[in-house]
Amino acid sequence: MFLYFKYKKVKIYTEENKQIACPNCNEKGGMLFKVYKKIFSIFWIPTFPLGKIGKAECLYCQSEFKKSKMSPELIHGYELVKDKKNIKATDFSGLIILCGFISMVFLMDDGSYEEKEKLYLEAPKKGDLYSYKINDKHRYSYLKVERVSEDSIFVIPNSKYSSRIMKMRRINKAENYNPNLKYGISKDEVYKMYQEDKIFQISRKSGEE
Ligand SMILES: [Zn+2]
Repeated sequence: MFLYFKYKKVKIYTEENKQIACPNCNEKGGMLFKVYKKIFSIFWIPTFPLGKIGKAECLYCQSEFKKSKMSPELIHGYELVKDKKNIKATDFSGLIILCGFISMVFLMDDGSYEEKEKLYLEAPKKGDLYSYKINDKHRYSYLKVERVSEDSIFVIPNSKYSSRIMKMRRINKAENYNPNLKYGISKDEVYKMYQEDKIFQISRKSGEE
């Protein structure tokens, strides 16, 4: 038995900003801040929150800015948005009675996440991202859904792999997906891979649910 852990992002807040200009295209009024909470779970049980992360997106030029890439103006705007919805820090301050309740809340969170994955599995869409184990050695990579037909999906495999699930996001870059490598898998096979935990995570870009 190996220790299965998972790190995930749950979107908690989105806000449009009308004042800040996009550092890329200079258009004003199209900056969108998205705030996520990070949750670390072991064996599908959310264990503790790891704080919040977020990004800014420009609705005009589609540029995305992680915090490290934000202009000072964007960082300021983001900080204001980020603090609007707090992960209830006070809920975690050792109030033992609340602990059970909180873990229930997080378990429910997790439940809805698993439910979502099942929906993605049943109705795949172009752009869905499958995290999968390449083989029994510790190699993890992604399959990106490119096309869906009646009984199959067509995926582009990520050409890189990561030996740690926690760090695999690093390889999720556009240049690692070569459309020439596209191949088809039957939906039955995909389902089987999911059941066997070979595909261990399915994500869909937020806003495309
Ligand atoms: Zn822009």
